[in-house]
Amino acid sequence: MEESRYQLDLMKAMNQKLNQKERMYKSLLQTSELGFLYYEFGREEVVTLGRFAEFFLFEIKAVKELGRLEEAFAPEYREKLQTALFPERDDQRTATLELETPDHRIWYLMTTTVLSDEHGKPSEKVISFRNISRQKSQNSELLYMAYYDGLTGLYNRNYFVTLLGNFIKNAKDENATVAVMMVDLDDFKKLNDSMGIIVGDEILQQFGSFLHTLEDDQIIACHMSNDIYALAIYAPYGTHSVDSVYGRVRDRLEEPFSLSTGQRFRLTASVGVAEFPEVAGSALDLLNSAEIVTYRCKTMGKNQMAYFEAPILNEFLQSVEMENRLRNAVSQDEFVIYYQPQYYTGNRKIRGFEALVRWKDTGEELIQPSVFIPVAEKNRTILDIGRFVIEESVKQYATWCKVFQMHFRLSINISALQYKSDQFVDLVMGVIREYGVDPADIELEITESILIDDFEMVSRKLSTLRNFGIHISLDDFGTGYSSLSYLKKFPIDTLKIDKSFVDTVLSDPTTRVITESILNMSHSMGFETVAEGVETEQQYQYLHSAGCDVIQGFYMGRPSPAEETEKLLASFSSRDVQ
Ligand code: C2E
Ligand code: MG
Ligand code: MG
Repeated sequence: MEESRYQLDLMKAMNQKLNQKERMYKSLLQTSELGFLYYEFGREEVVTLGRFAEFFLFEIKAVKELGRLEEAFAPEYREKLQTALFPERDDQRTATLELETPDHRIWYLMTTTVLSDEHGKPSEKVISFRNISRQKSQNSELLYMAYYDGLTGLYNRNYFVTLLGNFIKNAKDENATVAVMMVDLDDFKKLNDSMGIIVGDEILQQFGSFLHTLEDDQIIACHMSNDIYALAIYAPYGTHSVDSVYGRVRDRLEEPFSLSTGQRFRLTASVGVAEFPEVAGSALDLLNSAEIVTYRCKTMGKNQMAYFEAPILNEFLQSVEMENRLRNAVSQDEFVIYYQPQYYTGNRKIRGFEALVRWKDTGEELIQPSVFIPVAEKNRTILDIGRFVIEESVKQYATWCKVFQMHFRLSINISALQYKSDQFVDLVMGVIREYGVDPADIELEITESILIDDFEMVSRKLSTLRNFGIHISLDDFGTGYSSLSYLKKFPIDTLKIDKSFVDTVLSDPTTRVITESILNMSHSMGFETVAEGVETEQQYQYLHSAGCDVIQGFYMGRPSPAEETEKLLASFSSRDVQ
């Protein structure tokens, strides 16, 4: 009795232990990421465990049903699957195989393990499956990203440099030439800013696809960055000459890009060419040289191709030097402000002055803003220069107000970078308060590029400035993208019609029609109009009759330093100021 009780207790305890183990195995299998098939050799029964039922829609209960696995994978894996399911047939104990589902959407890693008994004979088999789709796609993406540019599918910059290096190596052996052509789409930034990046990206893709069609074993194409592409041409002679490739690029650009939105855009490109071995001996040097010429093409009027030549390098080095000198120029008091008068067209009374900055660098001659402002915008020194212009001109204006007891308009040019800076509005209002001038006398000249930036930010800043009393004038109107109806959304007071209109208004009837419609529409929208660059009596007469409110130009007065402007002011009586 005692004994049987003891045995019962023992059995219970063992059962409990067994249950515990079973539970443990069960939980292990349930939380595992694998699906299993298990069978013992010599027995028909197959057990499925873990995620098997989740992975596959069919059941496998017997060894002879293992063939069903074939349905689970794409047909091209059939043969390999058979080999991997039965490694023991080749005297192997393990096998692994990566398999895709028939729709090629899911990848599995199958591992077969055969266990042996004490005599070395196969006794049990475990076949496991793991879903490896994510690793697979990450791997292929990483692989792709290492060589290609995601947007255009062309080679990326890094891999292009490697391939170009290979071209150069071969060319050294074969005494051949390699040309690098950098293709930079003109004014792409403007288009991107005004139309949005979706439109921009579509154009970049289309142009990338076109360059792809130029590729063969002697031409490779790459998307370097944003709107810049590069081609490398091995042995650029005959059908593959630089000229013929450039011709094809131009032909493509002659045709507008047709977008999915139905819009059509035409672009041009600036192209710079540098050749091995003439210009440089390494891939990177060759690319740098091509980039320098491309940059130069841009400043020379765009839509053209140029070859790298030694003088270009000198010019480039000079511009780098200018960049460095500009950095110190503000602290060393090297800027001066000239003032150009603006007059009301009807009565020829003075409306005010535009402050125009000049740089007295080391030489005698003053450097004009058209030369250094683009460089200053590039290296951001425009922020310091702009601050100087605001402080200095407002201070000067405050003095003139006191001395001559008269008010007029002071126009100050603001570059986009300045306008975007967080401190800009505070800076302007702070300086106006400090010198105690009437905010309504101050006019900020902005360009269209500012307007097409960030609508919210632009409107907020414009409104703050205008609520404070400051006037806003839109400079160089007609040279950018925005239309008059677009301007309605922005709080602006004055429109400055670009000099290029004034230049041809007398000789070109089309310009005349456009100018007149700009004048009419801006008046109906309540803007004051200023014409810039008026050089002759005839131009003045025409603009007067066409109803332009204000004129500025050499005809009425050139930009002059403060001392001379003071003399002009002294000659005015208050009757000359409206
Ligand atoms: P802008 O604001 O359109 O200035 C008008 C330009 O036309 C000035 O050139 C002026 O000297 C020139 N001009 C005026 N009347 C005539 C004329 O009858 N005939 C000819 N041929 N030219 C005339 P400037 O001073 O060389 O300035 C060029 C540009 O540089 C300015 O164009 C403006 O965009 C920029 N700039 C000038 N000063 C500053 C500044 O302080 N800050 C910023 N951000 N830009 C400035
Ligand atoms: Mg201006
Ligand atoms: Mg202008």
